[in-house]
Amino acid sequence: MKKNDIIKLKITSMTAQGSGVGKTGDGIVIFVPYSAIGDELEVRVLKVKKTYAYGKIENIINPSPDRIENDCPAFGKCGGCVYRHISYNSEKEIKRQRVVDAVERIGGLKNVKINETVANDRVNRYRNKAQLPCQASTDGVDFGFYANHSHRIVPADDCLLQPELFNKVTKITREFMNQTNQSAYNEKTGKGKLRHLYIRYAEKTEQLMVCYVVNGNGLKQEDILIRTLKENIPELTTVIFNSNRENTNVVLGSKNRTAYGKGYIEDILRGKRFKISPLSFYQVNRTQAEKLYTIAENYAELKGNEVLIDLYCGTGTIGLTMADKCKKLIGVEIIEDAVEDAKYNAEINGIKNAEFVCGDAKFAAEKLSRDGIKPDVIIVDPPRKGLDSELIATIAEMNPERVVYVSCDSETLARDLKLFTENNYSVKEITPVDLFSRTPHIENVCLLTVD
Ligand code: SAH
Repeated sequence: MKKNDIIKLKITSMTAQGSGVGKTGDGIVIFVPYSAIGDELEVRVLKVKKTYAYGKIENIINPSPDRIENDCPAFGKCGGCVYRHISYNSEKEIKRQRVVDAVERIGGLKNVKINETVANDRVNRYRNKAQLPCQASTDGVDFGFYANHSHRIVPADDCLLQPELFNKVTKITREFMNQTNQSAYNEKTGKGKLRHLYIRYAEKTEQLMVCYVVNGNGLKQEDILIRTLKENIPELTTVIFNSNRENTNVVLGSKNRTAYGKGYIEDILRGKRFKISPLSFYQVNRTQAEKLYTIAENYAELKGNEVLIDLYCGTGTIGLTMADKCKKLIGVEIIEDAVEDAKYNAEINGIKNAEFVCGDAKFAAEKLSRDGIKPDVIIVDPPRKGLDSELIATIAEMNPERVVYVSCDSETLARDLKLFTENNYSVKEITPVDLFSRTPHIENVCLLTVD
């Protein structure tokens, strides 16, 4: 097989990243993006390795029954969605299979109960957050989305995963930048002003945060920009300028200046109110997050007398929505602003049995253990890279009856579950929850109990 060969291929499975996979007669695996299980294809070979190759669809001979019409012009160009061409039912099944594969292949665990994927109520426009890169265009500046694995920007006026409200902000900002003759930041030269437009929306309270990430302190004539936003967008609650002068991929700098409003928004989750600052984590899909947290609460089986530790707690959302069902809650989080938000959230919700610690989960857990804290339940909700093996050992030492593992990465979850099973814990069940429809990502909640 060599580059540019055209071969016939049947797609039989999907990778974790959402690329179709087929095998040739001589056993070579070919990855074909934007294909569907069951497709019979003519594939153009793009790159050949020893045992596998990459290809792209040249012609669909016989389409998979899972296929639907794609409805987004940026699909296949922008790095966001991978499943706009298949039915939602097949997407849910593919995502569950991703979890099954990870648990069996990476975790080496057989016969784990993995429930059906909990469906997203809204397959489109479910996100409450956008970070749109700004770039120079022929008539001034443009906003768009990063292409797959790159910093090339695909310009797009709309994203079907985001609320239409965000388009109003984008349009006003673009017009303002062009009328006032201000430039987009250029990653290569380090020159230019506006880096990102960062928007967050609290759906339940209808509060909107607009944050401009600038190479500098602010924009010229920002009073005009703010006035135009206010006049046209009744939901506008706060406008913030975030300063980022570093030559980095990280979107946000550490310094914020509030130009309008209070500098944060508030949303309601499972009946509790939460403050959301620009630098604090907040789940991007509010309604699905509520389902996720409810499953976590069911797994925690709190009766009222427990000590509950919520590691990687962000603004406290998981623990605080169950604080009235346990005796004591201790949250741990590394971002200082998020810890401040968590404390404030406990206060505004009248929660008196919660305490929050700022620090690295691994060291904070060691300290809690040394201090003689004996948790009955530990919840962990780490970023994609999962848990450190030392933290898993510390958790096992503290010996809680139940560990509830909330994970946004099935592969690191599987790796960590293996370590838990080597430390006296058994995996009881896993529920995948679809928070990120049309993208390859899937959230999981897993219950572990002590042997
Ligand atoms: N449980 C929260 C937040 C989950 S996101 C919620 O559902 O909203 C993961 C959180 O872990 C983020 O807030 C991030 O800032 C925090 N974090 C990342 N690395 C950490 C570490 N080493 N120790 C503690 N917290 C960490």
